[in-house]
Amino acid sequence: MGIYSKLEVREFFEHNFPEVAKLMSESEAEAFVKRPAWNFVTIRCNRYHQGDSVLIVGDAAHAVPPTIAQGCNSALEDVIVFDRILDEYDDDYTKAIPQFTARRIRDAHTLKNLAENSILISKTLFVQFVLRRKFARTMNQLLPQFFAPFFLI
Ligand SMILES: Cc1cc2nc3c(=O)[nH]c(=O)nc-3n(C[C@H](O)[C@H](O)[C@H](O)COP(=O)(O)OP(=O)(O)OC[C@H]3O[C@@H](n4cnc5c(N)ncnc54)[C@H](O)[C@@H]3O)c2cc1C
Repeated sequence: MGIYSKLEVREFFEHNFPEVAKLMSESEAEAFVKRPAWNFVTIRCNRYHQGDSVLIVGDAAHAVPPTIAQGCNSALEDVIVFDRILDEYDDDYTKAIPQFTARRIRDAHTLKNLAENSILISKTLFVQFVLRRKFARTMNQLLPQFFAPFFLI
């Protein structure tokens, strides 16, 4: 389903995110329609918590394109980091939640920079990447003892 008009934007947000729909102005709805759709979403936040009761982790906090294959890893790492912080502060959320931002933001921003500088930003290298993968898969099917299914670049 595509969203092609201001009305459809409104309907989409009213159905899925009613709180956001209430705040959305006409010009924001129009800007949303004009915004080009992109397959890869990157999210960069300047903090991952709100007060001492809200915390975001994983893609909500730092989504990166799947091409670098680190989104799930970093989401799981978030959990480990937060678990350690909770231990450190004896499960005191008022201290642990803001600490998560302090400890995690540098790595999460680095991950985003890494993703943006990954080779797939270049069209030529992207084509090369696809062809290499196709080649690797075909060769793996023909001669699995010599070729791995993925071609590391
Ligand atoms: C094609 C592809 C390949 C990938 N390959 C890799 C890889 O090789 N290695 C790697 O580390 N990562 C990879 N990733 C990234 C990885 O999938 C994500 O980073 C990871 O799933 C993020 O986990 P998450 O729990 O933060 O978010 P999600 O997995 O997106 O989980 C969010 C959940 O919240 C639910 N949800 C959404 N809105 C609401 C709502 N309003 N109410 C209730 N629930 C809601 C969703 O249905 C979903 O179940 C890949 C991603 C893609 C798309």
